[in-house]
Amino acid sequence: MTKTILITGASRGIGRAAAIIAGRKGWSVGVNYVGNKLAADEVVDAIGAAGGRAKAIQGNVAIEADVISMFDQVAELGKLDGVVVNAGIVAPASPLIDMDIERMRSIFDINILGAYLCAREGVRRLARSRGGKGGSIVLLSSAAARLGGPNEYVDYAGSKGAMDTLTIGLSKEVGSEGIRVNAIRPGLIETDIHASGGQPDRAQRLGVTAPLGRPGTADEVGESIVWLLSDASSYVTGACLDVTGGR
Ligand code: NAP
Repeated sequence: MTKTILITGASRGIGRAAAIIAGRKGWSVGVNYVGNKLAADEVVDAIGAAGGRAKAIQGNVAIEADVISMFDQVAELGKLDGVVVNAGIVAPASPLIDMDIERMRSIFDINILGAYLCAREGVRRLARSRGGKGGSIVLLSSAAARLGGPNEYVDYAGSKGAMDTLTIGLSKEVGSEGIRVNAIRPGLIETDIHASGGQPDRAQRLGVTAPLGRPGTADEVGESIVWLLSDASSYVTGACLDVTGGR
């Protein structure tokens, strides 16, 4: 069945992969980005070429007015069926003892507050009691929520623990509204995020320690995201799915 979805942070990495896989299913996709318009436009073109419809939507998930505007814009593609709360950042590796407040605030603002705002706006539009169709919300957590990120980013790991907790609570809150809420916990996935944390080789270097002996690809995570959005997962809610190669 054709769906209309919004993916935050869909210009690159995991969000991009999920957006293009959704496009191959003929879905309509709101492609959110914060600064990289060229990359978002490329994803919109790829979705169109794959058989879907798409619109690039600029907005910072940590700014409430931007988040509301993103959801208003995706409505131009159709009535909402699902949201992927994907946008997230890391900062350079550091023990907590050396972290300054600006770093921690930006991690928590984007990864936690941004995710809660996007989940809230998604519920407001999907809830049957508000005239919505019901649907699926997928939150991007991380294996770091389980592992803790010691000496690298306990701030980031904590922000992902919040995604797991939000998944548990919100899934119970909105099940009766016809909304499923699940999280994906990716492991070491080859995307730009590692370079943005100052370790471009991180996924390759540490990926070999996973039981499957390699890092994962954005497409491998994207497939799991699209499955959780699709009707094939209709009885799955409140789940945190590890996509980690066993890590
Ligand atoms: P990425 O390659 O660095 O891409 C980040 C995406 O988020 C870009 O599209 C970027 O937009 C967007 N973005 C960043 N800040 C934003 C903001 N404030 N508002 C809106 N969009 C924003 O990241 P990724 O590796 O695909 O990660 C995606 C998600 O998976 C994140 O939540 C991450 O924590 C999680 N994850 C990743 C891994 C991994 O190994 N890659 C592992 C576990 C969990 P622009 O292009 O405009 O900058």
